[in-house]
Amino acid sequence: MSVTAQTVWNNCLEFIKDNIQPQAYKTWFEPIQAVKLTDNALSIQVPSKFFYEWLEEHYVKILKVSLTKELGEKAKLVYIIKMENTYGNKQPFTEKIPSANRSAMKSQEVDVPLNNKSPELRNPFVIPGIRNVKIESQLNPNYSFENFLEGDSNRLARSAGLAVASKPGGTSFNPLLIFGGVGLGKTHLAHAIGVDIKDKYPEKTVLYISAEKFTQQYIDSVKKNNRNDFIHFYQIIDVLIIDDVQFLSGKTGTQDVFFHIFNHLHQNGKQVILTSDKAPVDMQDIEQRLLSRFKWGLSAELQTPDFETRVSILKNKLYRDGVDMPDDIIEYVAKNIKSNVRELEGAIISLIAQSSFNKKEITIDLARVIVEKFVKNTKREVSIDYIQKVVSDYFQMDIDTLQSKTRKRHIVQARQLAMFFAKKFTKASLASIGSQIGKRDHATVLHACKTVDNLSSTDKQFKKYVEDITKKLSV
Ligand code: ADP
Ligand code: MG
Repeated sequence: MSVTAQTVWNNCLEFIKDNIQPQAYKTWFEPIQAVKLTDNALSIQVPSKFFYEWLEEHYVKILKVSLTKELGEKAKLVYIIKMENTYGNKQPFTEKIPSANRSAMKSQEVDVPLNNKSPELRNPFVIPGIRNVKIESQLNPNYSFENFLEGDSNRLARSAGLAVASKPGGTSFNPLLIFGGVGLGKTHLAHAIGVDIKDKYPEKTVLYISAEKFTQQYIDSVKKNNRNDFIHFYQIIDVLIIDDVQFLSGKTGTQDVFFHIFNHLHQNGKQVILTSDKAPVDMQDIEQRLLSRFKWGLSAELQTPDFETRVSILKNKLYRDGVDMPDDIIEYVAKNIKSNVRELEGAIISLIAQSSFNKKEITIDLARVIVEKFVKNTKREVSIDYIQKVVSDYFQMDIDTLQSKTRKRHIVQARQLAMFFAKKFTKASLASIGSQIGKRDHATVLHACKTVDNLSSTDKQFKKYVEDITKKLSV
């Protein structure tokens, strides 16, 4: 009986399967194909360089043991890395390669002696989140449903989240998009869904990632020329949670890759959960085809919690922290901080800290001082909207005029000032400033900033505008 690559590999697989976790076997061994056997060298085809490095890093021992059993002490393993030119393909790795087409297929052979402990090719695609065999979910266990108090403001989103958690990928809430203002619990709820799924379905691969990190990983993968590894990685996830997708606005490359990943996951019945600070209709600079995907499932809004909910959020937090606080003080804080749960919690934490550092009793007076500071402090965080409002008020025009396409000098100057201050006082990119101030591009914003700089050193009147507005924005 002739020994073929296939039979050798099948025997190896049998041994490997018995010795590692089923999920790991599925992820890392099923996609491999035995390609050829010459003398003592078995060639296997792996879908990517990343795959090869992963195998070398985590499974080199078991590969060696199994292959030595089959081929003796001189056994060698050759990896053939199939570079993919396309993606979005459902089963990109299982297609047969007719040998005649081999040259058309970009492939790269890596000859790895099995006793090579540190392969020269290191994993260039460091994915935060992959450790050991399992993909770490990056979930915060404190952000649970239990700790996410229910109120009118979040009932729909919360129950949709619970439904998704009990049947990930199996409800019509796919994707589930949670949207709402800053500090209203989007991140918390997104984690809670993931935590609950992990609890109910430990074998599912859940991944939480911010859109910002996702973008960064994507950019890195393009730089390092392993975009396909990036895509492949995201395509094997069962439940993908992407936080703050508004961050993708204007980033067409990342949107494009996300579109393909999304489609793949969706087609395969995987669950996608997204959060955003805006409803899909209000998202700017997100491609239409992506927006339409966002609308496939359910968009659930988190609104500002009412007074009762704010009180129960505070009580729950104090209870968990083991702190006692008189009801009237809790109510005072809840009454005065309305728009943001994060600030609400922040105020209560400062209150506890103040009283324990200074050994002061927690009184209404102390609460008043802290709430005031808190409310003032958070006002400092200026938004582009706020800047536009201040600037247009200053010049006594409305925001529409400020944003209009007119070339009237005083309006152009007002708009340029708004752009200048947006650059100075926010972290927004030039592109995003431009898109928010009358849909201009980044070059226009850059030009505006330079013009303001120039004019304020040459034109006294203009300098005064800058100073006046700076003052208004700083109080
Ligand atoms: P967002 O992502 O919308 O900006 P977060 O999810 O970070 O907001 O929430 C801010 C803080 O408020 C977190 O500490 C979160 O635990 C808390 N929080 C928000 N909503 C609730 C809620 N319904 N119950 C308990 N805590 C909440
Ligand atoms: Mg958040």
